[in-house]
Amino acid sequence: MAVQTVESTTESAAPSVDLGPAVALSCRECGHRVPLGPVFACQECFGPLEIAYDFSDHDTEELRRRIEAGPANIWRYAPLLPVPADVATKPNINPGWTKLVQADNLARELGVTGGLYVKDDSGNPTHSFKDRVVAQALEAARAFGFTTLSCSSTGNLAGAVGAAAARAGLRSCVFIPHDLEQGKVVMAAVYGGELIGIEGNYDDVNRFCSELIGDPAGEGWGFVNVNLRPYYAEGSKTLAYEICEQLGWRLPDQLVVPIASGSQLTKIDKGLRELIELGLVEDRPYKIFGAQAEGCSPVSTAYKAGHDVVRPQKPKTIAKSLAIGNPADGPYVLDIARRTGGAVEDVTDEQIVEAIRLLARTEGIFAETAGGVTVGVTKKLIENGDLDPALTTVVLNTGDGLKTLDAVADTGLTATIRPNLESFREAGLA
Ligand SMILES: *Cc1c(COP(=O)(O)O)cnc(C)c1O
Ligand SMILES: [Zn+2]
Repeated sequence: MAVQTVESTTESAAPSVDLGPAVALSCRECGHRVPLGPVFACQECFGPLEIAYDFSDHDTEELRRRIEAGPANIWRYAPLLPVPADVATKPNINPGWTKLVQADNLARELGVTGGLYVKDDSGNPTHSFKDRVVAQALEAARAFGFTTLSCSSTGNLAGAVGAAAARAGLRSCVFIPHDLEQGKVVMAAVYGGELIGIEGNYDDVNRFCSELIGDPAGEGWGFVNVNLRPYYAEGSKTLAYEICEQLGWRLPDQLVVPIASGSQLTKIDKGLRELIELGLVEDRPYKIFGAQAEGCSPVSTAYKAGHDVVRPQKPKTIAKSLAIGNPADGPYVLDIARRTGGAVEDVTDEQIVEAIRLLARTEGIFAETAGGVTVGVTKKLIENGDLDPALTTVVLNTGDGLKTLDAVADTGLTATIRPNLESFREAGLA
């Protein structure tokens, strides 16, 4: 992937854009700082850049009151995000504040006694977790004066970008592999933006987008998951904030999080640490568990082998929204799982389908395949003894089952009968 860098400035330089408490971009590897801008790689070491904040001037109780009085979406956490203070007044898709479902029936099936919750992100505007990160990237795009919102995608991200751009009155132009399933194409195209099929696979799409960013043809374009990536990624912190606030400003003991690039898991950890630092939750240990599909399990394979580096894989799984064979944040995920005492585990496609059915049957939640991955992995972690059933556990469902109907396509009629009672009785239904 092509990298873009900017000239170095002194640490004390004031940011030129208003993105609230965000003061700079900081390299996750070497700590080198650059001003806020549409860049994503460190000019010193090519490490990933992330947002650095100034939270020094805060009063914990005042902050808690402000958050609780805020809107029922991610902007209640505006004081902790790289967005202007008046963000809630601007046209955006306003995702978040999704349900934290107390899953007692599922807990009984899995033998969890310490409290089991499903954070159900299928309730977002375009029915996946991606709305959180895109809403965040949209604010950065506005701050930098971009006029086109773009991304490379295999589905969920395309829909989220199309919707956000439509709402904000920006042009959107999204690039996907040309042979995506019809449902995903419709979901991305319906918002009226441009949708371009690339003759190639997802890697080819990504390569093309990197070229476009470096070319005059890409001027004024904000690629949410490339040149806006540091801002985009911060959207995942809101999952951590919401879970803790919904638990009554309490950290869960254990979280089970899906891994595609690993960005979401990494930022959930960042969000939890911020809440501790800010005094909004008590400082006590939590464990983060990563979940992958066996058919695309580069991180869990590395975890089990005790490696620090992640060897790329060629994905082959029904969990397409998690099918990134070369996850950029893989090494950070390994680090977090090990540091917090969690683990990374994977399940087969068969187990994913079984888990989708289990969650639907016990809690009335129809998850996409990514949710089948986290529920299936939770079950496996309990069976292995890695996850303690006596502790409070939160499992993420990051998308809607309507997006991946194929996974459960063999589900159907219990019986077909003639429209009379005799036939009803004959079928053994009385
Ligand atoms: C994108 C996505 C994730 C998380 O992806 P990361 O790249 O690891 O941040 C999880 N679930 C669904 C449904 C997604 O679309
Ligand atoms: Zn660096």
